[in-house]
Amino acid sequence: MKEKIITIELPTPFHIGAVNVYLLVGDTITLIDCGPKTKEAWTVFTEQLHHYGYRESDIEQLVLTHYHPDHVGMYAYFSEPPTVFAPADEMVYLQRDSLFLQHRTTFFTTFYKQMGVPPKLIEGEQKKLAMYAHYASVISAPLPLGPTLPCHPDWQVLKTPGHSPDHRSFYHKDSGTLLGGDCLLPHVSSTALMEPPLHGETVRLKPILHYRQSLRMLRSLPVTLLYPGHRLPFSNVSTLIDERLHLQEKRASSLLLALQSPQTPYELSQLLFPKIYTKDLHLTISETVALLDLLEEQQLVERQEHEHTTYYVQKEGVEVNEAP
Ligand SMILES: [Zn+2]
Repeated sequence: MKEKIITIELPTPFHIGAVNVYLLVGDTITLIDCGPKTKEAWTVFTEQLHHYGYRESDIEQLVLTHYHPDHVGMYAYFSEPPTVFAPADEMVYLQRDSLFLQHRTTFFTTFYKQMGVPPKLIEGEQKKLAMYAHYASVISAPLPLGPTLPCHPDWQVLKTPGHSPDHRSFYHKDSGTLLGGDCLLPHVSSTALMEPPLHGETVRLKPILHYRQSLRMLRSLPVTLLYPGHRLPFSNVSTLIDERLHLQEKRASSLLLALQSPQTPYELSQLLFPKIYTKDLHLTISETVALLDLLEEQQLVERQEHEHTTYYVQKEGVEVNEAP
């Protein structure tokens, strides 16, 4: 490989813990992801840069795996912001204009209501989503990302949606090296988080289906070393992907057992996450809906609408066995 990869680990205020950013040092110096917008992360970042013999101004471009605040926040702190590259269809997540943010708020209010979440909790969750956004930066004019990393032609840009709709991973074919963002993490299964549909679409997304497709695509590559968005690099990629896919199927089939009578996703989230279903509503509803989307895709459950609320129930004639 022509490039050297330098890992810098930064603190975050989030439950997930520290986040990794990577310096890809070749003819051009590229930063992959850029941490949350906290002074603490920025201090560690600049100290680590100096430690490796670089300055902030040496970073010529920034490429992001996805738009989540712990991956894009520090952009605001660069005195001369580097050029940012992002997927052309999904720049809206980084640009964060008021119309998009309004669309997002409206979507989640309706979505949570449909999923059976009590109004008081919806209000609190909207506040939390807004707070979370404070750790992100607005990147108003990113340049479109092509099929390879700009100035690093040996690195392919792979579409890996699911954890977020704009998620990308970067693959160096000759060495089998993958910069994988949050697509596959070594210590926890990555959540397929709900997002509103874009580009005038009205049908809600089923992120889990995209996520499973992304995992299967990565499974087909001879990846020998994966640099994740959190924690240490690892090499047992295909084993871990099989485990993650199997765990989703197992959790979905145990959820199916609870669906002899119609239930809302909110009711089911209490069963699945008895300790955190109110505290981490966005995460727990996303996880629950993801499993239901999977069961629906497998034609094991059906949806029923009653007074603007969605209920799920086992399809008639479905044989329910717990997965091994
Ligand atoms: Zn993420």
